[in-house]
Amino acid sequence: MREQLIHLLELQTCDGKVRELESAAKQLPAKLDPLRRDLAKLQGMIDAERTKLNETEAWRKAQQDNIDKEREQFRSAQHKLQASKNSKEFNAASREVENKRKGTQDREAELKKIVEQLAASTTQLQARDGDVQKLRDELAASEAAMADQVNSLNAQLADAKAARDKARSLVDKQWVKTYDTLAAKRGYAVAPVIKGVCQGCHMALPPQLNNILARMESIEMCPRCGRLVYRKELLEPAATAPATEDPKPA
Ligand SMILES: [Zn+2]
Repeated sequence: MREQLIHLLELQTCDGKVRELESAAKQLPAKLDPLRRDLAKLQGMIDAERTKLNETEAWRKAQQDNIDKEREQFRSAQHKLQASKNSKEFNAASREVENKRKGTQDREAELKKIVEQLAASTTQLQARDGDVQKLRDELAASEAAMADQVNSLNAQLADAKAARDKARSLVDKQWVKTYDTLAAKRGYAVAPVIKGVCQGCHMALPPQLNNILARMESIEMCPRCGRLVYRKELLEPAATAPATEDPKPA
């Protein structure tokens, strides 16, 4: 029975390791989520800015068209002025020329401001594009590094699973079944007893059960939590080395 208990403990250790590695392998890719979120946010801002920039550019073009038209009108007003036959016509035409000149000048000043603003926005957008690209590169590098980590974790996991299968094969069928049921229900199946207390549920065992455990002739269950119990000092002799994991079979 001592052997069986040792195999059961080994199986428990291996199962723990497999679970640990599985959860690490699952959590690893999620570590890059904050970076992915930052990137998406920045990209969204840039897209919004680009849309605004395109709108401003369209507006600029429309303004330019207006100016071209006004220049045309200005020229035709000048022709009228030259062709004026009397002072009435001359006065009207010169007012028109003056109006057109003023209008065109105002629009041109406004357009100049917009062109400057467009240039500044374009420069800013290019800088942001650069930032996003840097972030993208960073993410790609992290993902590559992570792929290596994931591969290494998966390799460790394969080893751990092989060790687990081997440990499982050493446990008698009847105990494997009990072990699985307990592990599913209680999280883990085998618990040490220290000074008469089950470490799975912290209940003091009846003294006669504790005595039975001392003989190591049978595998017993804790009356409260149902875990398979053993006296720690019999399988794990007084710690000579700093607390380590469960002992491996010799
Ligand atoms: Zn218990």
